[in-house]
Amino acid sequence: MKTITSETGEKIKIVVGDITKLEVDAIVNAANKTLLGGGGVDGAIHKAAGIGLLKECRTLGGCNVGQSKMTEAYQLPCKKVIHTVGPIWYGGSDNERKMLESCYDTAMQLAEEHHLKSIAFSCISTGVFGFPKAEAAQIAKRVICEHIRNGYDGEVIICCFSEDDAQYYL
Ligand code: ADP
Repeated sequence: MKTITSETGEKIKIVVGDITKLEVDAIVNAANKTLLGGGGVDGAIHKAAGIGLLKECRTLGGCNVGQSKMTEAYQLPCKKVIHTVGPIWYGGSDNERKMLESCYDTAMQLAEEHHLKSIAFSCISTGVFGFPKAEAAQIAKRVICEHIRNGYDGEVIICCFSEDDAQYYL
């Protein structure tokens, strides 16, 4: 685990590992619009959480790109799961950057509204959805730092699945 500090002093922790193992108040899932599970981190979260998560997700009616919805965490060691729907990268002219910003923004808003004291993000949209990793990292850090600067006083973690991915944040 490494801590990065922005030019204006906000701190974010960078962790390499499996997000399903983290004992935090909330983990942020890179979901798709159906919220009914998929591959990558979404599949891992549903597998570890168990069928209760899928049952709750079925009641939510999906989620739009750039938006976030929160559920219970069932058999996961965290307390809540925030499902955010990242954009699929189509080359950058389809509002992808704004949508990714909105993912981080709406997830942080949920953490604030529910007084969550620690939140761990997966690297939204950077897997199958193909968002360029370096740019996604800059967007993630910028939006998270804005929230910390505006008063969020919990711990914010970015959970990278590999050391290589973590380099984009460090
Ligand atoms: P998307 O469809 O939003 O691109 P993916 O799940 O394909 O979502 O990838 C998002 C990120 O999650 C990628 O960086 C991928 O390596 C990472 N990832 C996959 N499984 C896990 C896991 N168990 N814990 C943390 N990160 C994971």
